[in-house]
Amino acid sequence: MTEFRDLGPIDCDLHPPTPRMAELLPYLDPHWREVMLSRGIDGLELASYPPGSPLSARPEWRGPGGRPGGDLALIQREVLDRWGTRRAILNCLHGSMAMFSEDMAAALARAVNDWIASEWLDRDARLAASILVAARSPELAVAEIERRAEDARFVQVLLLAGSELPLGRRGHWPIYAAAERFSLPVGIHAGSAFHQPMTSVGWPSYVVEDYVSQATGFQHQLLSLIGEGVFTRFPRLKVVLIESGVTWLPGFLWRANKEWRALRPEVPWVDRSPIEIVREHVRLTLQPFDSPPDASALAAVIGQLGSDDLLLFSSDFPHWQWDGEDILPKALPEVLRSRIALDNPRQTYPRLGVRLGKECVS
Ligand code: ZN
Repeated sequence: MTEFRDLGPIDCDLHPPTPRMAELLPYLDPHWREVMLSRGIDGLELASYPPGSPLSARPEWRGPGGRPGGDLALIQREVLDRWGTRRAILNCLHGSMAMFSEDMAAALARAVNDWIASEWLDRDARLAASILVAARSPELAVAEIERRAEDARFVQVLLLAGSELPLGRRGHWPIYAAAERFSLPVGIHAGSAFHQPMTSVGWPSYVVEDYVSQATGFQHQLLSLIGEGVFTRFPRLKVVLIESGVTWLPGFLWRANKEWRALRPEVPWVDRSPIEIVREHVRLTLQPFDSPPDASALAAVIGQLGSDDLLLFSSDFPHWQWDGEDILPKALPEVLRSRIALDNPRQTYPRLGVRLGKECVS
């Protein structure tokens, strides 16, 4: 069996440390820099997840003060060099994604994207990144997509699974139009703006409830995107569910397919079955891989997915989603390992520009 690092994998979910406000000040325009200083919030670290939670980072993957993700040297040593990573996509889950102020969120998203470009992408050519946007204002989000899409190192638009309105609703469509125009997949990452409960029955009390409930949040969003006709209106759009888990998908699709057959006159724009739509338009990152570890259970899940194209390798560094050297499930068939590690990611993210073998011959 080929060593994983010899595959030259593409890591589709890697988290840099969330920048502190003081680090973003040079990237803010004078007005917003003054706002942060005069309000005395220049010392904040705004993360959209609890930085101290054990799930957020392994002890050895924390920097000074326990900061999840450390610094570039740590990421190079523990992820890029360790796994022979060809390219990696940075997803910075900054707290501006949860802000009610559209203008402040947009100013901070812009600063975070520029910080990512200067402090990370300029320093290691293996790194790419998602574009952070102020999703509450599609107008401002589109402006940021258009600004940053000029830089091919930005390969995806980043949204959270816990949104204020279902992501299929028409208010979000300008974001999808811009993403499609620039060949940017829309990555929906686990997490929430916390304007709505993550569960469908109200607010939970504990991180474990929130995190387990993310899977149902992804189901709501996927059903919304299908039911509202997003993939019919944007036929080239790709959506990547990031850190969603995987095993909920077959059961969800069986139910969605069955009810669609009965109710399709209500949604005539859903012109194919949900299973067909998902296989063409939707991909899922690997970690956290939530199947039982034994080979037969894993084979059952893979078989139920019904396609070798859906899964994309992700380390989800620095989250504590896997142990030791088992970054891929041990029982994964050889052919699927290379599909997940390299082929599926490079087909999903054309802006990475990864060409192989014969494709390199002009
Ligand atoms: Zn992640």
